[in-house]
Amino acid sequence: MRNYTKHYINGEWVESTGSETEDVINPAAEEVTGRISMGTQEDLDRAVQAARDAFPSFSTTTKEYRAELLENIAKEYENRKDDLIEVITEELGSPVSMTEKVHYNMGLQHFKETAKQLRDFEFTERRGETLIAKEPIGVSGLITPWNFPTNQTSTKLAGALAAGSTVVLKPAELTPYAAILLAEIFEKAGVPKGVFNLVNGSGETIGNGISSHPGIDLVSFTGSGAVGQKVSENAAKTIKKVALELGGKSPLVILDDADVEKAAKTAVSNVVMNTGQVCTAATRTLVPRSMHEAFIEAVKEVLPKFRVGDPKDENNVVGPLVAQKQWDRVQGYIEKGMEEGATLVAGGTGKPEGLEEGYYVKPTVFTDVRNDMVIAQEEIFGPVMSIITYDDIDEAIEIANDTVYGLAGYVFGEDEEKLKKVAASLQAGRITVNNAKADFSAPFGGYKESGVGREWGDYGIEEYLEVKAILGMPS
Ligand code: NAP
Ligand code: MG
Repeated sequence: MRNYTKHYINGEWVESTGSETEDVINPAAEEVTGRISMGTQEDLDRAVQAARDAFPSFSTTTKEYRAELLENIAKEYENRKDDLIEVITEELGSPVSMTEKVHYNMGLQHFKETAKQLRDFEFTERRGETLIAKEPIGVSGLITPWNFPTNQTSTKLAGALAAGSTVVLKPAELTPYAAILLAEIFEKAGVPKGVFNLVNGSGETIGNGISSHPGIDLVSFTGSGAVGQKVSENAAKTIKKVALELGGKSPLVILDDADVEKAAKTAVSNVVMNTGQVCTAATRTLVPRSMHEAFIEAVKEVLPKFRVGDPKDENNVVGPLVAQKQWDRVQGYIEKGMEEGATLVAGGTGKPEGLEEGYYVKPTVFTDVRNDMVIAQEEIFGPVMSIITYDDIDEAIEIANDTVYGLAGYVFGEDEEKLKKVAASLQAGRITVNNAKADFSAPFGGYKESGVGREWGDYGIEEYLEVKAILGMPS
């Protein structure tokens, strides 16, 4: 049993001022693996005070110092590789191969890439008599979700520390272990006391506490739209800067000249990755009407190759959902799709055969989906694909953009003019053409209701800065 009942405040592991704890569940076994403390307002106040006290000194360090600090963090993170993989596999239910390739690696890349970008980052700019100076904003409150326990925390932490901001982090209750390891990593890497503070607890107490705290200057939140709204409302009362990374219902536009097998593989892997618990998942698959039958056959062929099962088994690529609540939610959407008259191609309700224990779902594919159906408009956060057919490229673009979201978009095919046209027309913050490889230097964030602001790399540093113009600055 993991007994993680302390918070990390002002460079020390301290007891909570409250006595409430919360069990952490392994979603593959439905078993308690440990517990955390549910922090109190008093715990949060102490953490905010520590971050405020550390700010004057940390905010005036050189960028070289902070770049080196991030590099040290990356090294210590690498030293804890096995531990990180173990806890993320356990708390999230992510298959061990994916935990390493995706979760472990993304967290690492953010520290490395941000350190690199920081070395080249210009904090001042001269325009004649005027000096424009970018200064760290103050104390940042970071609230992160459970679906990417290292990626979401690392990108925020790297950006904030690079900028010279001090932080208070509240990770999701469902997956707190990775953040606790990060605190140990930061301590080992020599992050000065008070610069990084971790308070575990509920969204209700610590989440609301952060977004409305007068001692916090910026709140960066990743999670659901409903909570994002609440964070904004709370933050408005003290005019905090707000960064929101919310949900998505991203389209994958398959062109009529695409290789059908490759397109099907791309579509399926994108939907089942992390058991569909991905904000950028391409859950609306737009297929040319002429290709529809062949595409369905190809999807049926490829889907069983994405093996569902025990996250500890190297051969599995799809694990359980993170919690019973998410399982119920996904079942509800699958039922809704059937009620709405979409055609079930694969999967459906219930657990996959032989996987009665654990929050497993069947990877599910619907076709004959209309874009106005609930399953095409709402974020399901499970491995559920909605296939929508189109007649010409303009119609595909219109359908793709007919959503309140705008986080990501994907296009797959051969014709370069069409690839460019679709990429330019999709209203979303991150477009991927033909499975392009990851780029950790490129900004990440959403249009429309998918969010406000950008993370990753130099844009992620900008988020934690204020801009000062000094007119008549002597040189
Ligand atoms: P959520 O409720 O938005 O939780 C995200 C984070 O916000 C967690 O740390 C949560 O704490 C905290 N939180 C909860 N209530 C809060 C409040 N009033 N003020 C401030 N922070 C608060 O998301 P969820 O319940 O975990 O997931 C629900 C749905 O959100 C998913 O099904 C999915 O559609 C979406 N989602 C999107 C992303 C994304 O990457 N865009 C990530 C996760 C979820 P606790 O965990 O302790 O409650
Ligand atoms: Mg927006």
